[in-house]
Amino acid sequence: MNKTVLITGSTSGIGLGIARQFAEAGYNIMFHGLETDGAEIANQIGEKYNVKVAFSNANLLQSEAIEGLVNETIKIFGELHVLVNNAGIQFVSPIEEFPNSKYENIIAINMNAVFYASKAVWKQMKKQKFGRIINVSSVHGIRASEFKSAYVTAKHGVIGMTKVLALEGAPFNITCNAICPGYVKTPLVEGQIKDQAKVHHMTEDEVVEKVMLKKQAVKQFVPLEAIADMAILLAKDSSTTITGSSFVLDGGWSAQ
Ligand code: NAD
Repeated sequence: MNKTVLITGSTSGIGLGIARQFAEAGYNIMFHGLETDGAEIANQIGEKYNVKVAFSNANLLQSEAIEGLVNETIKIFGELHVLVNNAGIQFVSPIEEFPNSKYENIIAINMNAVFYASKAVWKQMKKQKFGRIINVSSVHGIRASEFKSAYVTAKHGVIGMTKVLALEGAPFNITCNAICPGYVKTPLVEGQIKDQAKVHHMTEDEVVEKVMLKKQAVKQFVPLEAIADMAILLAKDSSTTITGSSFVLDGGWSAQ
């Protein structure tokens, strides 16, 4: 029987890249995200790879909605083997001008939602004696950049939470790991290029060259496929002893 994966924020960017590869590997998928064409995206992938799909636009700012998303997934598919906590937002600003509401939303979506979703899947994964929780953190979970106080805080927090869940999950074959990408060309980053251009008084091309990829030894955006390959590996039955770790795909950024 096909396994089931719930991927938050899977109707755009990295989450969509991960979803495609899970579909190709035969997983049934609960798609999720705020994109208005989310259901269409889910159905297209379901048809292409002949897997069962569903779609939810639950708002990750609300803990009850996150619980509802998990319950709906279990109701539709009967089981839930893999949770990919991927959804995230970004906002870039010097701290003194950083709007409190933006800070609070980044902490809520990028960090607190990981807690609520993981908590909600726990009972089912325990019952199955199988669970794989994969958190999409960032190189900003282990390194800092100026003007990203909220994002760096949330992403560091996710790495701490990953370690705790790994310890608590160990007796039940529930693993928890984080993936920490460098820059990936997605709508989130395209927004950042614009914001950084304003902050640094640069053109968008200069931001890519001089700010974003400056810290990566490999001067390329990280391909979506590399992140999806890592997620597929972490989800495997044989990955039961891979837990509590952070896998850095950052073009050598943190090697320095
Ligand atoms: P994206 O903007 O392309 O996708 C984000 C997804 O999250 C979308 O589907 C969006 O609808 C969903 N989302 C946002 N707010 C939501 C909310 N309140 N409720 C429900 N869904 C919501 O971004 P991406 O670049 O694909 O980022 C995905 C993850 O990867 C994020 O956690 C991000 O921090 C992380 N990441 C991205 C990069 C990068 O360079 N793009 C690098 C490292 C880590």
